[in-house]
Amino acid sequence: MLSVITRFSLLISLGFLAGYIALINLGPLSGIAAGIFVLAIPLIYSYINLARLRKFTLTDSVESMPLPSGYWEEIFFRLQRLVRNLKQEIRTIEKQHDRFIEAFQASPNGIVMLDDQDQIDWCNAIAERFFDLNFKRDALQRINFLIRRPEFVQYLYRRQFEEPLLLERMGPSSNLSLMLQAFPFGDKRHLLLIQDVTDLQKADAMRRDFVANVSHEMRTPITVLMGFLETMQSLDLDKAQQNQYFEMMMSQAQRMRSLVEDLLTLANLEANTLPAPMQVIDIPTIMALLKNDAEALSQGRHAFHFNVASQSNLMGEEREILSAFGNLVSNAIRYSPDDASVSANWSVNSLGEGEFSVTDTGPGIASEHLSRLTERFYRVDRSRSRDTGGTGLGLAIVKHIANRHQAQLIIESAPGKGSTFKLRFPKERIVG
Ligand code: ADP
Repeated sequence: MLSVITRFSLLISLGFLAGYIALINLGPLSGIAAGIFVLAIPLIYSYINLARLRKFTLTDSVESMPLPSGYWEEIFFRLQRLVRNLKQEIRTIEKQHDRFIEAFQASPNGIVMLDDQDQIDWCNAIAERFFDLNFKRDALQRINFLIRRPEFVQYLYRRQFEEPLLLERMGPSSNLSLMLQAFPFGDKRHLLLIQDVTDLQKADAMRRDFVANVSHEMRTPITVLMGFLETMQSLDLDKAQQNQYFEMMMSQAQRMRSLVEDLLTLANLEANTLPAPMQVIDIPTIMALLKNDAEALSQGRHAFHFNVASQSNLMGEEREILSAFGNLVSNAIRYSPDDASVSANWSVNSLGEGEFSVTDTGPGIASEHLSRLTERFYRVDRSRSRDTGGTGLGLAIVKHIANRHQAQLIIESAPGKGSTFKLRFPKERIVG
């Protein structure tokens, strides 16, 4: 490529040469005209290309403009390459941006980006749901005008973002607990990360309730036991009285032992998330054992009907099945008055599902309690439960055992109409 100076010198020389030839042959006027004409050709050519360039830039189609020849070809070519590279770079940045947005949208946490004025720069759909925001509507609005909870406004004002902030009763149904923390980034900007901790909070509350319940359950027998011990220490009791006190102390100790045993059973069941093994359990043997225990517990006060309607057996963990079935039978006995009848039945329905059911003619249970019976320490009849040695954990244990066997616990009961507790096992666990 020729340099600009060379081109310019060549052009001037050519102008002079054309002018000189015309001057010699045609006279001075023609000479000047010929010189100007030669010098004007590149000027006109440049003007045409400038006009083309203008047109292509106006229509944003620089990339598609046809290349002229000569000096302008290089300019057009470089311009086209520049535009193409710039567009490619913009596309790459846009893709990267889209990927970031997609990743932020996929996050299970709420994300809000604030500018240096605490105005919303961007937020994801989860944050919109948590705080009833709408990014299109609320972009560039100050966040404290939109989230007006005093504790949040204060958190933002104090600017001590090392600690997270817990916001309760949030979300569309005011039932969410949200953990929010601001992280500074860029130029005085902040990223708000919001995590839904509702389940964690619930689990925490349950843990606290559980500890309180266990302590409460243990405190009563311990207090009673200590009372007896003090009495025995301070009073001079005869043998008969001593024996009576020992018996009462024994029953309190027994109560504590039952509680600890049930707690351990529950803890083991909760720790074991695997399905129960597929060992064949001989149902007639189980039913015979249950009947023996039932008669011993009832001491002749109830009428029993134990029935095995199907020859099919169950596959599961025998110890657990015996404990679950036994719990249902013992509840039926403990909560039913004398002379009530208790029937236990094993059958297989037309779908091949196995069903163990216990029906009593006892007091029955009001519907508002039914869904809560399997909660730990939930009792309808508190005093009867304690008087009959109940720990309040029996049905929670039954429910866990049912889960481990993919079985359903079905409770049908109404006040004055007795109760039926059923354990329905899937056909995959029925054999024979
Ligand atoms: P508990 O050790 O107190 O018996 P459970 O978890 O076994 O605890 O039972 C929870 C509550 O359900 C009992 O306290 C009792 O009020 C009620 N309940 C269970 N079975 C029966 C039943 N067959 N008839 C009436 N109430 C029952």
